[in-house]
Amino acid sequence: MLENIRVVLVNTSHPGNIGGAARAMKNMGLSQLVLVDPLDFPSAEAVARASGAADILDAAQVVGTLEEALVGCNLVMGTSARDRRIPWPMLDPRECGVTACEQAQQGGQVALVFGREYAGLTNEELQRCHYHVHIASDPDFSSLNLAAAVQVLTYEVRMAWLAAANQPTKMFKQEAATVESSQPVTSDELESFYRHLEQALIEIRFLDPAKPRHLMSRLRRLYGRSEVSKLEMNILRGILTETIKAARGEHPSQEKVDV
Ligand code: SAH
Repeated sequence: MLENIRVVLVNTSHPGNIGGAARAMKNMGLSQLVLVDPLDFPSAEAVARASGAADILDAAQVVGTLEEALVGCNLVMGTSARDRRIPWPMLDPRECGVTACEQAQQGGQVALVFGREYAGLTNEELQRCHYHVHIASDPDFSSLNLAAAVQVLTYEVRMAWLAAANQPTKMFKQEAATVESSQPVTSDELESFYRHLEQALIEIRFLDPAKPRHLMSRLRRLYGRSEVSKLEMNILRGILTETIKAARGEHPSQEKVDV
């Protein structure tokens, strides 16, 4: 599906930016790079900046005009660092990622178009686009490096693609202990924890059983939304056991030290 989304770089001056864009694309799983009349390509600097994404450069299509780069495209999105005179349908990068993925999923061809380092895209080029995309930035310094702009949009494409495929967008670091211990506790385990907690609070005289107020309800609400795991529950139960022992003066070793 991501192969239906191409990145089009128009008249790029610095080969390093072409390499940087190729790397950004490969990181995000995109592979179709189209270069419109680049000033200096192929180039060793592009390969150096691509740093492992030279295959994207090797497969890049080099064309003479934007028109050629957009052949077969059903959806064209042009990026711009500045406000242009003619109002145009605008998308932010997040919306751009979602819209691009929706189109690509239906088998459509999508182009993300990026302009020249020194002058961006011309008004004529921007008018070839269905949407304009602006990456929110400080209005006093709004222009991102070309490869950085490619990174932002391709990242959003990847996030939208992962969401559409119901794939996780976070890395799950498993607790060093077993998977079992990272499972959330069951409600009966929580209930016996609350009984233990109440007992400890009474023993340390934090809770007066004659005047309990809403303390236990509030604590239930707190722990209830904490998604406590079995491992964390063991720690809490251990603390309660030791708290009760301490309140009853059942810590002989500690007393020895105190003496
Ligand atoms: N001086 C140019 C900026 C060019 S930056 C201008 O004023 O338009 C090179 C390219 O990076 C732009 O053409 C655009 O494709 C992309 N880019 C840089 N900053 C951007 C931003 N804030 N939003 C969207 N695209 C941006």
